[in-house]
Amino acid sequence: MLYQRSSALFKEAEKYIPGGVNSPVRAFKAVGGTPIFAKSAKGAYVFDEDGNRYIDYISSWGPMILGHAFEPVVNAVIAKAKDGTSYGMPTEIETKIAKLAVEMVPNIDKIRFVNSGTEACMSAVRLARGFTDRDKIIKFAGCYHGHSDSFLIEAGSGAVTFGSPNSPGVTQNTAKDTLMAIYNDIDSVKTLIEANANEISCIIIEPVAGNMGCIPPKKNFLKQLRTLCDAHNILLVFDEVMTGFRLAKGGVQELYGVNADIVCFGKVIGGGLPVGAFAARDEIMQHLAPLGSVYQGGTLSGNPLAMAAGLAMLETIAEDQELFKRLADKTEYLHKGCAKALNKHKIPHVINREGSMISIHFTIGEVVDFKTAALGNNERFKQFFHGMLAEGVYLPPSAFESYFLNDALSYEDLDATIKAVEKVASTL
Ligand code: PMP
Repeated sequence: MLYQRSSALFKEAEKYIPGGVNSPVRAFKAVGGTPIFAKSAKGAYVFDEDGNRYIDYISSWGPMILGHAFEPVVNAVIAKAKDGTSYGMPTEIETKIAKLAVEMVPNIDKIRFVNSGTEACMSAVRLARGFTDRDKIIKFAGCYHGHSDSFLIEAGSGAVTFGSPNSPGVTQNTAKDTLMAIYNDIDSVKTLIEANANEISCIIIEPVAGNMGCIPPKKNFLKQLRTLCDAHNILLVFDEVMTGFRLAKGGVQELYGVNADIVCFGKVIGGGLPVGAFAARDEIMQHLAPLGSVYQGGTLSGNPLAMAAGLAMLETIAEDQELFKRLADKTEYLHKGCAKALNKHKIPHVINREGSMISIHFTIGEVVDFKTAALGNNERFKQFFHGMLAEGVYLPPSAFESYFLNDALSYEDLDATIKAVEKVASTL
């Protein structure tokens, strides 16, 4: 494939934008080479500026669960834009999407919309601190909750990809309030709670992790967290920015039958426009301004175009009884096909999967936490990534990211992907 135009556009972008990108993982730094500049996308495919077509497994890092340029979403945005793009006043559509989200997700009474997953998680933690009157939080190594200061401590995703899971610029005073636990290790959580009695406001977790590759929780892990939180008056915050409206209508709370106290959303809830949200029971949400004293706001929060996109998305998901089964079936098919192809060429690997999230770790043994995820063979990952790209398959350009399948993927696309895996595996 030729990437001439992408290369030229990247050089130009580098002159004016740090690293040529507005979010680090896009730069291909972890895998080398020139980032692909997208020109358009439709259904399961992304088309680049050089006219190449890719079967897309990042789905804009999660939001495009129904495929790109999904017509009801596009039409809703176009129609809404004609009435003006922002008012800074309340609108009816905000209530419509809020009502639908509250109906779809268990255990929440109220939801507040923001502009990104980062804002959702940042605000959720502030609310937890305000509600409990405690400062400390527990976070898990390798989990990513956006780029606000409290979370850039042993963070996953781009932070670890670029070797800065603890970012300069985060003060010691902020970092000391973020206590680090080990994913899937309940004892690590117990130890922290015992050592910081009555000081912990919340435990925040990706209930199915996607930012160290895909790592599902071990059986009972989430339940054990719930029990610990109840025993110590700690709030349990599920960061469902990736998993919300992707793994089930009601997210991981529904899938695993465990209630969280605050839930964060992003990605799918905005249908590809900049949206995040956090939600909880009334008892907690009434601490939020203007009802309570925990402050949070936003000039563009609840933006009409974003709400129109999100509403069209959620309405489609709410009505489609088979969506999550279809996605899980496709993901299982891909899993089996990839495993067969990699085994045929004796490539050591571990595949983790939950619903439509999946990742291939080039390692042996279980991948259950950040330490085991980091054992992956990075050189092999780079070769695999570029091999697949050359075959017209766009995978996340970092070993610490989950793939996101979308419903527009056909079994022909999956077969083509598996065939590409087999071809690339023969060269590894
Ligand atoms: N939480 C999780 C679990 C995420 O995966 C992400 C982004 N990948 C975020 C929070 C931050 O969301 P955003 O990039 O929209 O700020």
